[in-house]
Amino acid sequence: PLPQAGGETKPLDHVVDFPAIPAGWAYLDTAATAQKPHAVIDAITRGYACDYATVHRGVYQRSADMTLTYEAARKRVAGFIGATTPDEIVFVRGATEGINLVAQCWAGTQLKAGDRILLSQLEHHSNIVPWQMIAERIGAHIDVIPLTADHCIDLDAMQAMITPAHKLVALAHVSNVLGSVLDGSRAAAIAHSVGAKILLDGCQAVPRLSVDVAALDCDFYVFSGHKLYGPTGIGVLWGKAELLEAMPPYQGGGAMIDRVTFEKTTYAPPPGRFEAGTPHIVGVLGLHAAIDYVEEIGLAAIHAHETALVTKTRAALAQINSVTLYGPEDSAGIVSFSIEGVHPHDIGTILDEAKVAIRAGHHCAQPLMQVLGVDATARASFGVYNSAADVDALVAGIQRVTRIFK
Ligand code: PMP
Repeated sequence: PLPQAGGETKPLDHVVDFPAIPAGWAYLDTAATAQKPHAVIDAITRGYACDYATVHRGVYQRSADMTLTYEAARKRVAGFIGATTPDEIVFVRGATEGINLVAQCWAGTQLKAGDRILLSQLEHHSNIVPWQMIAERIGAHIDVIPLTADHCIDLDAMQAMITPAHKLVALAHVSNVLGSVLDGSRAAAIAHSVGAKILLDGCQAVPRLSVDVAALDCDFYVFSGHKLYGPTGIGVLWGKAELLEAMPPYQGGGAMIDRVTFEKTTYAPPPGRFEAGTPHIVGVLGLHAAIDYVEEIGLAAIHAHETALVTKTRAALAQINSVTLYGPEDSAGIVSFSIEGVHPHDIGTILDEAKVAIRAGHHCAQPLMQVLGVDATARASFGVYNSAADVDALVAGIQRVTRIFK
């Protein structure tokens, strides 16, 4: 049994909730996308098979009911991350779309030539490229916060380098490669000390940490449903109400308007203003079910469970001479490593033969790979369905890799 916070020894045993995980398969790629529990699959099936209708438009009862269900999910998301009102929750396709929306609609209208944007060395490409695109259009510049020796965003360096020319800071709350956890409220305080806004990329944080945007005091927060045991194609952008209200629409179309004439169109207030077109109705229902699922287990229990798996993995891999471990000891649910003389893709392929699924590559973080001095890493990431036996299978597989490549 794995130790839990408080010294108890009760492991999570939720693999039975996941029909796509066959016995004996160690799925260690949750940071890419989480498997789906029955509760989420059932909510999606029910949404299409029993309750399906459009939202916000129909005058018939079924559509009115679906609208209530859809808006109840928005309320559920707001409660889940500590938003002041459901109107601060914008449904998007995923974190990528959420960041692009803020880049286009906030940065694209608020920044001017010469302004600066602050990112970090460990960002996912989706928290780099949208800012580069907007910076190029506007004539703004991007600065990059370095990492500490144990691969966390260096907030002392951030404090030293930030200036009033910085208008926007965008940082990963948890790194998808290293599992490094950001002190989000300290980062927000530093950003606000020069009047900058801060966006936190919560993709890897919401499945493993309790997130409260009010306590973080950030300005924007994004995450994807599919990493939270929910469906693909649905994600969340949270923004402070006054920021969203001041932003122009992202896309034009149905549902985002107040009144349309050929002379002039006026727009709906947030969040509708940012949700053009028929939304991913059933995806939203699946997201609601996913939030219920993780909250029923409890994020503290999930975090303790994943921490125990990370500790066990790092301790075992540290015993193997040819293995290099990246990231901090207290990484949240994610372990990146390399084996001297072996390409990570070969590690991944040999582990697959042993029914261990890991990710190998640059993890959409090529600038971070450059900082680590590698082209790619192997990455094991954990979820509520993993057990100590999965770690044993991983470690045995890695020992086999080292024997093959001796
Ligand atoms: N940020 C981080 C930290 C991520 O891990 C990911 C997904 N790997 C993304 C952003 C992008 O998420 P999505 O592809 O779901 O939009």
